[in-house]
Amino acid sequence: MYKTNNTALKSWIEVRPGSDFPIQNIPFGIFQTDSIPHHVATIIGNQVIDLVALNDLGYLNDLNLDKTTLSQQYLNDFIAQGKAVTNAVRERLSDIFNIENKTLQENLDHRSQVLHDYDEVRMLLPVKVGDYTDFYSSREHATNVGTMFRDPENALLPNWLHLPVGYHGRASSIVVSGTPIRRPKGQQIPAGADQPIYGPCRLLDFELEMGFVIGKATNLGDSVSTDAAEDHIFGMCLFNDWSARDIQKWEYVPLGPFLGKSFASSISPWIVTLEALDPFRIPGPVQDPEVLPYLKYSGNKNYNINLEVMIQPEEGESKTVCRSNFQYMYWNMCQQLAHHTVNGCNINVGDMCASGTISGKSPDSYGSMLEISWKGTKPVPMPDGTERKFILDGDTVIMEGFAEKDGVRIGFGGVTGKILPAT
Ligand code: CA
Repeated sequence: MYKTNNTALKSWIEVRPGSDFPIQNIPFGIFQTDSIPHHVATIIGNQVIDLVALNDLGYLNDLNLDKTTLSQQYLNDFIAQGKAVTNAVRERLSDIFNIENKTLQENLDHRSQVLHDYDEVRMLLPVKVGDYTDFYSSREHATNVGTMFRDPENALLPNWLHLPVGYHGRASSIVVSGTPIRRPKGQQIPAGADQPIYGPCRLLDFELEMGFVIGKATNLGDSVSTDAAEDHIFGMCLFNDWSARDIQKWEYVPLGPFLGKSFASSISPWIVTLEALDPFRIPGPVQDPEVLPYLKYSGNKNYNINLEVMIQPEEGESKTVCRSNFQYMYWNMCQQLAHHTVNGCNINVGDMCASGTISGKSPDSYGSMLEISWKGTKPVPMPDGTERKFILDGDTVIMEGFAEKDGVRIGFGGVTGKILPAT
């Protein structure tokens, strides 16, 4: 339990019911205005807090903090200072914005320099992602996909219950929430055809995932144990791993996903720290068969984080198509990182690891249109009378995520992306 988690804390900044950003959250991101190119920020309620301005006004003194990291384009160097520093900054922010603290609260000149309305800033990609790894750690998702494409009797491949399956994704096309996504083009094989065609993807999908950001590097040859893993994980974000199912289906054998995945992934703009999520830990699913010793772990390593996906057509009402929860993950983040590094593969600050699609047991909790529409056989009715098997041009996919307990809601600020027609 961290001081900043105290549910009794209140901020002098208004936090409306349903806000993702109470004083207990204090996530980190990078914002921009017409006069500020990029500053590290946090957020309370709908007020974005400029850490450069806070520092210039003397509010971040005596923290052993490298001040130059606050005005960089990405959080990487700020994060790389380690949790001792970033947690001390969070504690200081918790104190400055506590309703009992009048110093900044009553200094209107300082307030005007430090605070920005959320709708008046642009949020930038928070981290420079050097490497991106995508796991496949929801048993329900893997079972659904195996059932659809292989054999319902043997939906999980023989390795699945023994290791967290993953692949190396593309880091260059990870974009921040709000970035429009161009419908990709590529090779597909029409049903029954024996020759491929080239053209715009017709089975464009989202994948509801969460990502974690590496906060502490390792050297080549080192491995991270499940016990040490949390020390290397800075925080989490929402992650939409856009997928072109027709391109994916034709290309993925034998080496796995390639162009069907690499055209874009969208992330939420705030990295929520593991410390802020600490009160929401819960046990994970029982793992049977027993895992190998390097994958064993102790303590509660799953998190109760509610997840929701909405489709917003260009005109008309949006529709919630999925309600899931991060707690459905069979393999937790610590096991994923232990497995990732067990061969000596080094990790760097800013690296992104995504969970894989997070599906629950019931069809309304499936985390992709592939599963929700069951390969297009069960179209989803939309409020405007149209239906969706996959994502259409002009649709915006919106993902929300939040943990909530004892009157405190820790959220991620959402991740959205609108699909533009193929060129
Ligand atoms: Ca994925």
